[in-house]
Amino acid sequence: MNTLSQGAIGSPKRTKELLQKYGLTLKKSLGQNFLVDRNILLKIVNAAGLDSAKGALEIGPGIGALTQQLAETAGKVAAVEIDQRLIPVLEDVLRPYPNVKIIHGDVLKVNLRAVLADYFSGLQGISVVANLPYYVTTPIVMRLLEERLPFENIVIMIQKEVAERMAAKPGSKDYGSLSVAVQYFSEPELVAQVPRTVFIPQPNVDSTVIRLKLRNEPPIEIEDEDFFFRVVQACFAQRRKTLLNNLLSAFVGKADKQLLLTALDQCGIDPVRRGETLQMHEFAALSGRLREIANAES
Ligand code: SAM
Repeated sequence: MNTLSQGAIGSPKRTKELLQKYGLTLKKSLGQNFLVDRNILLKIVNAAGLDSAKGALEIGPGIGALTQQLAETAGKVAAVEIDQRLIPVLEDVLRPYPNVKIIHGDVLKVNLRAVLADYFSGLQGISVVANLPYYVTTPIVMRLLEERLPFENIVIMIQKEVAERMAAKPGSKDYGSLSVAVQYFSEPELVAQVPRTVFIPQPNVDSTVIRLKLRNEPPIEIEDEDFFFRVVQACFAQRRKTLLNNLLSAFVGKADKQLLLTALDQCGIDPVRRGETLQMHEFAALSGRLREIANAES
């Protein structure tokens, strides 16, 4: 198990010193809330199951608090930071760690597949480990999942409510299209609750560390993923509406009410149910049937 090094960046004192030394003011627009709690840093690193044969891709290293701990645990670390002002700071504070590569860029645009193939070549088991900026959590996670980048785990600290939605089960109030999408690609597990008091500056929300263990195979067989996710979105479009009414609004002109009722009946799904009660395999059956109907009509 990793222990925290002397002179750790992730303490309130050291963080304040570094911010002052480099004359940095933090940007709310980039989600710059820096973690200053040693126990939470260790929980995040330990949740990724890293060792010297494995690699870590960090998104948003800030001034390097988490990067430093990753560098002491993993064989190699690549850290993608969007804020140009932080690059010289990172190069300076992480100089003792030759196994760290700092990449200046927006993680939504960087060619991560190339980073994996080039920088991490030879290492088995690369995980994403990050304290993600709140403002762009879902696009980042969906990019990592949808591109099917070959990661082992994605261990991220994110807004508590978003983590709960990712891990929610059918029938719960948090279950929605994000739960279905995340659980299609991965097995989520909530690792730790994190109060807002452990950041500089303090955000307005509490956080949760969540681990997404990437699946080798999807849990269900889907012929057309785009269509599947369109159906899932449609079923949750208005949570108080029945499945039938949500589907009628989404597929207007493409399928009439009787066709939809027949499709639901053939899948054994009561049309007055709400989207939040459907299991993943029921969404799969429904989207498969609706696709057949759409194809037959065109
Ligand atoms: N890892 C540090 C920590 O735990 O203290 C900082 C985490 S802070 C919540 C988020 C970091 O992500 C900031 O350094 C911010 O500049 C960076 N960031 C924001 N948007 C980004 C993007 N699109 N691509 C890469 N980094 C980004």
